[in-house]
Amino acid sequence: MNYREMFQVAPGGKLKLAKIDPGFKNKHSDKDAAEPEIADQVQKLRELQYLLYAEGKRSLLICLQAMDAAGKDGAINHVLGGMNPQGCKVHGFKAPSKEELAHDFLWRVHARTPAKGEVAIFNRSHYEDVLVARVHKLVPKEVWTERYRIINDFESLLAANGTSIVKIFLHISPEEQLRRFKQRLDDPARHWKISESDYTERELWPEYREAYEDAISKTSTKHAPWYVIPADHKWFRNLALSNIIVETLKSLDMGFPAPVVDIEQIRQQYHAAEEEQNGKTGGNPDDKK
Ligand code: ATP
Ligand code: MG
Repeated sequence: MNYREMFQVAPGGKLKLAKIDPGFKNKHSDKDAAEPEIADQVQKLRELQYLLYAEGKRSLLICLQAMDAAGKDGAINHVLGGMNPQGCKVHGFKAPSKEELAHDFLWRVHARTPAKGEVAIFNRSHYEDVLVARVHKLVPKEVWTERYRIINDFESLLAANGTSIVKIFLHISPEEQLRRFKQRLDDPARHWKISESDYTERELWPEYREAYEDAISKTSTKHAPWYVIPADHKWFRNLALSNIIVETLKSLDMGFPAPVVDIEQIRQQYHAAEEEQNGKTGGNPDDKK
């Protein structure tokens, strides 16, 4: 069973997060055992992204969602950061600005969807509008309940335009979150990451869990599936995430585009230019070695 099958939330199913162990490690014993496979997957990801860029026909959108300190930044850094920045953009979504609030909730997101050949990574996404917006009652219930359908329609539009959509929920336990908060407190280089809301949001864990379960169940579709990745172990998160993205890109069955020029003719031009150059300079001294 591959990682996509293992962690995909079946469309039409009802997700129960309590049934998924955030500390799951599969067959791997520890980080060292998994490290070679992670490196291999990150390299494959780089190659496939190059192909996506060269082909220039399709695009990939990765939405990352999680509770605080679940490792969105780490996942981007260790896995997705392996991609070539030319053709890959990361967008973080914070509380909407006044201008953003004056538009529909998808306005700011739609503007950042990937162009053909590109990868876009959303660090938080339009899902905040059915998560934080629901938990904090930022909009009435009639508004957020309608958003699941709107999101599904929006993602269908993107898919029909050649965008593969992968939605990732990094699943950590409240115990692991607290451990990471402690590490942040103990490490001055991480103090900047601490906010008071980390603790207030933590108190709302059951509300968030319910909101996530609903959102993921209602919007995991064939063309835009959700994956719930056990994320208490950072290395396992990296392993599963890299595998899922690699498998998704492989399934696109991409190929390099045909050359736009006659390669044989260009080769002859090259040889002629090389001979002319050698005539001027007496040849490349390296060639005589
Ligand atoms: P970290 O996990 O490292 O703390 P972060 O993604 O939580 O990173 P923050 O700047 O701490 O980054 O938080 C961004 C905040 O913006 C989150 O609390 C999130 O809920 C909020 N936010 C994002 N989108 C919306 C939205 N549409 N409406 C209201 N709040 C939003
Ligand atoms: Mg935060």
